[in-house]
Amino acid sequence: QPAGKTLPFQAEVQELLHLVVHSLYSNPEIFLRELISNASDANDKLRFEAATNPELYEGSGELKIWVDYDKAAGTITVRDNGIGMSETEVIENLGTIARSGTKAFFRNLSGDAQKDSLLIGQFGVGFYSAFIVADSVTVRTRKAGLPPESGVEWRCTLSGDEASAYTVAPLTRAERGTEVILHLKEEARDFLSRWRLTELIHKYSEHILWPILMPKEEWDKEKGEYRRTGEWEQVNQGTALWARAKSEITDEEYRNFYRHVAHDFDEPLAWLHAKVEGKHEYTLLLYLPKHAPFDLWDPKPSHGVKLYVKRVFIMEDAERLLPHYLRFVRGVVDAADLPLNVSREMLQEAKALDAIRGGITKRVLGLLEQLAKNEPEKYATFWKTFGRVLKEGIGEDHANREKIAALLRFVSTASEGDEPTVSLDDYLARMKEGQTKIYYLTADSLAAARHSPHLELFKKKGIEVLLLTDRIDEWWTGYLTEYQGKPLVSVTRGADEIEALDDAEKTAVESAAKTHDATLKRLEEALKGKVKAVRPSARLTESPACLVVEEGGMTLHLKRILEAAGQ
Ligand code: ADP
Ligand code: MG
Repeated sequence: QPAGKTLPFQAEVQELLHLVVHSLYSNPEIFLRELISNASDANDKLRFEAATNPELYEGSGELKIWVDYDKAAGTITVRDNGIGMSETEVIENLGTIARSGTKAFFRNLSGDAQKDSLLIGQFGVGFYSAFIVADSVTVRTRKAGLPPESGVEWRCTLSGDEASAYTVAPLTRAERGTEVILHLKEEARDFLSRWRLTELIHKYSEHILWPILMPKEEWDKEKGEYRRTGEWEQVNQGTALWARAKSEITDEEYRNFYRHVAHDFDEPLAWLHAKVEGKHEYTLLLYLPKHAPFDLWDPKPSHGVKLYVKRVFIMEDAERLLPHYLRFVRGVVDAADLPLNVSREMLQEAKALDAIRGGITKRVLGLLEQLAKNEPEKYATFWKTFGRVLKEGIGEDHANREKIAALLRFVSTASEGDEPTVSLDDYLARMKEGQTKIYYLTADSLAAARHSPHLELFKKKGIEVLLLTDRIDEWWTGYLTEYQGKPLVSVTRGADEIEALDDAEKTAVESAAKTHDATLKRLEEALKGKVKAVRPSARLTESPACLVVEEGGMTLHLKRILEAAGQ
């Protein structure tokens, strides 16, 4: 065979290689994900082209991906029977980074190895990630439709941590497609195990549509070791449920998939499967669990929604795809147009992810709306389990505040029993003529709330008051100052804020202030330092006195006073 030639890498490739070797050692396992993703793309491309030119199949149309390892030789091989590459393509694809965003990407790197590795680790570095684990990489490929003699062997060996050149040589290869052979570095030899490789395939490539095969092994009792049978067996499930048409998926399949993604043995409460088109295209399959995950109250919960790009697992990050207050949602989002690769603009990616996050958030809130409207019993279950978490959204998610507010459920003086069933819309619909505000009372318990002297006036007037007893209620009520244009007001605020007085009552209060002036002064004197003022009030019908907060004062403050006073 004619000798090969040595060619220099484009400067960006050299830089990228350097970066890969230096920054990504903390997350070496992504190499397999990247190589399998390339093999899968190659099969996709062949299938696409063969649709108009079936001869490209060369008589074998079963496209697959093979992953093999050789402990003695210290190699891992990833092989496909996809489109393959011509010599020109090899040089173009594996020697240069032609895509436009590369320079921008380099500009965005901080120089801090740890930060950068996070940045690129999330998206992967494509083919060059092979050099995280290998100090020498050989690619053998032959393009579909070309004769066997037009195969190419590409090879690159790191010297130290760098490589400035690679070789290409002609090759005769009967099978079309590509194999990538990694000669592992000493410290990466623990990947040379069937168990480890299988684990990585399950983790990252479970839903790749092409079968991923590994050599079948059997336990040899006599020798006390695993022995290859000479057959191959499929490792991945190979079914991306979310990629199938809704009409073809049974509820049972949806439930099974939930158990798989959420690691939950129970059934989901509800799910949402949608293909979103537009500026960013993505498919989502999201679930609401029935019960709270164990880490619901951890500041950094480990599970959330899994991000896939074209069926390749990218990351599971609770915060990146959904806001914290929706951390109970489980499932997958599969983006069609996000790169797996660093060779596009990172800023662009961040923006795209933010847009997707916003879209998903709206969808989840929409799902909750639908549930509340059409399946109130299920919604009640949801509310009981996750209502307190959703309330965080009032403070966290300014843009969706009104939407979230509509999803809140309360116990109120007008509702029966202790179940929170009243929505703000219910409240608005029941407002008295002339009433312009939404009244609520925060307390430690429903019993305490119901016996609060603050309610007396409202009871008398037949005005509904929402009874809030979650700790977090003190917090979010500070953010939701109005709903549908109606202010939310605590009944513990001063009389000026309460509009429920008619003229006769106002006159009565004013004359009481005059007649009892001396008594009030003496009370104020006696309570000096504890209260600001003592005033007559029309708001009490049974109790002799109650504490109120002055305008602009905080109810939390009041709560402390009440607690200190032993109420
Ligand atoms: P990306 O996959 O994002 O394009 P990579 O760095 O992973 O970037 O791969 C670079 C290019 O090399 C690919 O776009 C493809 O053209 C080519 N390539 C890599 N692996 C294969 C393969 N197994 N078969 C055919 N082409 C491949
Ligand atoms: Mg790739």
